[in-house]
Amino acid sequence: MNIVLMGLPGAGKGTQAARIVEQLQIPHISTGDMFRAAVKDQTPLGLEAKSYMDQGKLVPDRVTIGIVRERLGKEDCAKGFLLDGFPRTVPQAEALDELTRDVGRELDAVIYIEVEEEELLKRLTGRRICRSCGATYHVVFAPPAKDGVCDKCGSELYQRDDDRPETVRERLKVNLEQTGSLLDYYDSTGKLRRVNGQLPIDQVTEAILAVIRGV
Ligand code: ADP
Ligand code: AMP
Repeated sequence: MNIVLMGLPGAGKGTQAARIVEQLQIPHISTGDMFRAAVKDQTPLGLEAKSYMDQGKLVPDRVTIGIVRERLGKEDCAKGFLLDGFPRTVPQAEALDELTRDVGRELDAVIYIEVEEEELLKRLTGRRICRSCGATYHVVFAPPAKDGVCDKCGSELYQRDDDRPETVRERLKVNLEQTGSLLDYYDSTGKLRRVNGQLPIDQVTEAILAVIRGV
C-alpha cells in the first residue's frame, strides 16, 4: 500500500499515521519529523530547514523532494509507505508521481483529513510531543495520564517551537495557499478521498481504514 495522508497543520495526520502504520506494517514517513531530527542533529539539512520552519514557511521543494527521494529508496519502503506531510505543493506531487513511476509503482490512495481552521488553531496550540518517542498528545483533547509525562515511555512532553500562537497563523496561511491546487491535482487523478477530521480520534481512524480497505 502506498498512501498519502494530507491535511492542514493540526488536522491529525501524525496521530492517525501512527495508528494506520501499526495496522498495515508499513513505514511512516513524515517530512516534518525528518526535518526536526535534522535540526536536532544540526546537520547541514537541519540548518537550512530550520530558518524556514521557525518562520512557519515551507522548506524549498528542491530540498524536500531530495529527502523524500532518498527515504523512499530505502529497503523498508519496498512493501509500501505512508507519507505524512508530503506532498504539500504541486511540484512535490509531480515529483512523487515520477518517483513512484520510476520504480513501477503508483499511489493507492490520497486521503485528505478535513478540519476547520478554528479547530486547527486549538489543536496546534495545545499539542504536546514526547521528547523521546515522539508520541503526540493534546492538553485538552488527548491528555496524558500524568501532566507533562508520556504515557508510552515516561519521558517529558514539550511544545514544538512552531506551535506557538505567533507561528501557527503563518503556517496555516502558507499551507492554505498550496492546498487548493494540490487537492485539484489529486482530484483529477481520481485518487483523492476526503474524511471528516473533526470527529473524535478513533472515529477518524475508522474512516481512514474504511477508505484503505476500499482501494
Ligand atoms: P498534524 O500531524 O496533522 O499536524 P497531529 O496529529 O499532530 O496533526 O494533531 C494535532 C493536535 O490535535 C494534537 O495535539 C493531537 O493530539 C490533536 N488531535 C488529533 N486528532 C484529533 C481529533 N480527531 N480530535 C481532537 N484532537 C485531535
Ligand atoms: P509538520 O511537522 O508536517 O507540521 O512540518 C513542520 C515544518 O516542516 C513545516 O512547517 C515546514 O517548514 C516543514 N515541512 C514539512 N513537510 C514539508 C513539505 N512537504 N514541504 C515543505 N516544507 C515542509
